[in-house]
Amino acid sequence: MNNNHSAYIGIGSNLNEPIQQVELAFIELQNLTNSSLVKRSTLYRSFPLGSANQPNYINAVARLSTDLSAIELLDKLQAIENKQGRVRTEKWGARTLDLDILLYDNQQIETARLSIPHSGIYERAFVLYPLYECVPDLVLPNGQKIYELLKQFTSTKS
Ligand code: ADP
Ligand code: MG
Repeated sequence: MNNNHSAYIGIGSNLNEPIQQVELAFIELQNLTNSSLVKRSTLYRSFPLGSANQPNYINAVARLSTDLSAIELLDKLQAIENKQGRVRTEKWGARTLDLDILLYDNQQIETARLSIPHSGIYERAFVLYPLYECVPDLVLPNGQKIYELLKQFTSTKS
């Protein structure tokens, strides 16, 4: 086992004790086959996308080293989502656990099941802040630097 690939996982929950759901997800990721959990961010609280008529979210990011392919990783993540009682209803609706592959090496993937980098990575504060915490010098596959992307959320000194 070489754990040759580097993957960043976005974790989110806004139902059934979200902090515990995210902590449980970290334990599942720690035990993931042919992989190791290299780093984890702290927890972030954020407002929901889509319908505002749902609880706030807890978000975090995990960095994995893995031998799994991106699609194998997606299968494992969806199994963890299901195990933690996720029921798929409306897009961006409330969920006990959402696990997204934010990045997989420096790859750009567009298939029916996978879009990597994940579409939210460029403008979602709840993704960018914990990602920055894991790797402050991160450069995305399109050449953008994470700390440049974060500037869209910071106000300038007057
Ligand atoms: P969202 O995360 O946008 O709220 P879901 O978690 O319900 O949506 O996922 C819907 C579908 O998104 C999944 O069935 C999966 O095939 C697809 N998907 C595409 N790209 C990714 C990715 N990078 N990580 C996780 N799922 C992805
Ligand atoms: Mg998802």
